[in-house]
Amino acid sequence: MPPPRERKLAIMGYRSVGKSSITIQFVDNQFVESYDPTIENTFTRQIKVLNQEYKLNIVDTAGQDEYSLFPVSYSLDIHGYILVYSVTSAKSFEVVKVIYDKLLDMVGRIKIPIVLVGNKTDLHMHRKVTTDEGQKLAQTWNAIFLETSAKDNLDVQEIFKKVILEMERQDGNLPEE
Ligand code: GDP
Ligand code: MG
Repeated sequence: MPPPRERKLAIMGYRSVGKSSITIQFVDNQFVESYDPTIENTFTRQIKVLNQEYKLNIVDTAGQDEYSLFPVSYSLDIHGYILVYSVTSAKSFEVVKVIYDKLLDMVGRIKIPIVLVGNKTDLHMHRKVTTDEGQKLAQTWNAIFLETSAKDNLDVQEIFKKVILEMERQDGNLPEE
């Protein structure tokens, strides 16, 4: 067995979009109704993708808005970013665009895996951002797009698998799609 590859991810987005819920659903397989929104924590989980074990360190950030200054640590040894908005919040969709721009300014224009996530798809009645809008935004970034429900554990695992595959692809270890 080859040793696990250690990779560090940051999960970012406006407050209350479900960053912690996604992280905890992935790490602990449970949905927590109320998680302290102000703390930043790093979680770890091992996952196997394409016969290779990965040890993922996930920085669950406290959240950003359009005025946030990013600490330099958000650009140091991070291998991929998960940018989350809530499909029930147009504001969070606007904020995720600002976060993306700031991120690119900070990490430079080098290619880095990014997954755009529209969370809370279980709240059908409250949807404000269409799947199409999310998809189009991700396309302009050349990023991967997923809609998820942390509550229903819908496609949460998929986020992390996709980001790993994209990392490997960018490292030249997988054929281009
Ligand atoms: P964060 O501030 O981005 O970390 O957001 P949290 O994970 O703390 O979630 C904010 C609120 O949204 C909490 O009340 C969560 O229970 C709720 N929430 C998170 N994800 C979902 C989801 O997929 N569906 C629903 N219905 N609620 C969610
Ligand atoms: Mg949180």
